[in-house]
Amino acid sequence: MDATQALFPATREAALARWQQFLPRASRYGALRNRVVSGHPDVTRLSAAIRARLVTTEAFVGSLLETHRFEAVEKLVQELVWRDYWKGWLELRPGVWSDFRAEVARIRRQADPAVLARAEAVMAGRGGIAVMDRFARELIETGYLHNHARMWWAGYWIHVERLPWALGADFFYRHLLDADPASNTLGWRWVAGLQTRGKAYLPRRSNLENYCAPEFLADPTGLERLDDAVVSAAPLPAESPTERIAWRPLPERPEASALGSGRWGLWMHGEDLSVERSALADLRPAVILSVFDARRVAAFGMASPRVAYLKTALADGLDRAGRHFACHAEACETGEGLAETLARVAQERGLAGWVAMRPSVGPLGEAIPSIEAALARDGRRVLWCRRRWDEQAWPQASAGFFGFWEKARRRLSAGAGDPRQSELSFR
Ligand SMILES: Cc1cc2nc3c(=O)[nH]c(=O)nc-3n(C[C@H](O)[C@H](O)[C@H](O)COP(=O)(O)OP(=O)(O)OC[C@H]3O[C@@H](n4cnc5c(N)ncnc54)[C@H](O)[C@@H]3O)c2cc1C
Repeated sequence: MDATQALFPATREAALARWQQFLPRASRYGALRNRVVSGHPDVTRLSAAIRARLVTTEAFVGSLLETHRFEAVEKLVQELVWRDYWKGWLELRPGVWSDFRAEVARIRRQADPAVLARAEAVMAGRGGIAVMDRFARELIETGYLHNHARMWWAGYWIHVERLPWALGADFFYRHLLDADPASNTLGWRWVAGLQTRGKAYLPRRSNLENYCAPEFLADPTGLERLDDAVVSAAPLPAESPTERIAWRPLPERPEASALGSGRWGLWMHGEDLSVERSALADLRPAVILSVFDARRVAAFGMASPRVAYLKTALADGLDRAGRHFACHAEACETGEGLAETLARVAQERGLAGWVAMRPSVGPLGEAIPSIEAALARDGRRVLWCRRRWDEQAWPQASAGFFGFWEKARRRLSAGAGDPRQSELSFR
């Protein structure tokens, strides 16, 4: 295990161990979570594990409510629920993701070379504000930044350096172990003032001085550029209104009539690596497949700690699934493309097609049409599923977070839809 994965668990077992270590302190999370301290003891450091669903949000929420009063851990529950809100928000507005990717490509092609050169220097930790340069290096070296550091750094990029937000978001996306199309893109948009239009997040020196451990500010170089009186919001980029699509529900498990008597494979991917703890647990797949898609990884320029994390998590998920479903489990590393690989293996194994959790909006979600088309060429199909938790939560992200949270809060504080009965048996 590398040093990064020791701090940011990349297997289910390691994630649960970290959780057990954190759980007794969960009631202090609300008071301590904003402090940025080396080693990040006051936050869970589980975002990459949750992102890959080595453990689900509902399992963590269930565990919290089993061991603490709701009010004592409300802040942590709320943060866990933020992820669902962002996921649902983007799922309902996929154009925000495709516009973001198009904007990154456009900037790379057309931006003033001086802007691109400055962006490179800032990303490399040579921007000239020592604490921000330290954060840039931390991100590159470890694949992680504390939430407050993400806010400050994104604010610095946008409002102090006046660099394009999309290029900064792409930098985070390439390096974060927990890189998530929803949390990252929408987090950046929020800092820019696009998400809640006109409400930007500014990085203020006084805020850093309040929340950073002393070692972060030991070198004060450049801090004057963050003086409260100096920092002001960058002009908002123009953008067309966001189109909201209609929700398309999915079952948590394929109907027996859809499965028929065919041989089905189970495709596992990096958005859900605990399929054996879902409604698919009683499926009888003929084969389980995980695919490391080298082409897609290269296209998105994923940094090596992120690639290493993904490989460890995929191997862990596949190993658990193979044991649970007691069938052939195959890890495939391919340069031919994801859709082609799924079609080829389905044909070689004589499958009717694949059962899979439907990837959400993002790089994997973008692959859905080509996967369906490649399989359809041989008369095969994918039966997409979605966890009930997502199916209930995501469509509710139609407006602002606080309405979303109020509904979740009512449900969770009353124990309704008891998360304890869901995926919790991890003791
Ligand atoms: C500009 C920016 C970019 C971000 N990019 C990502 C990203 O790509 N992937 C990602 O997972 N998170 C992202 N976040 C959200 C947040 O910073 C991370 O989830 C959090 O810092 C992860 O560390 P942790 O697990 O120790 O969090 P903790 O503080 O321990 O929080 C527990 C869990 O709650 C959830 N959570 C906490 N804060 C947030 C938040 N603000 N938004 C959504 N969920 C949250 C995460 O699942 C997290 O693991 C981003 C935030 C900003 C401001």
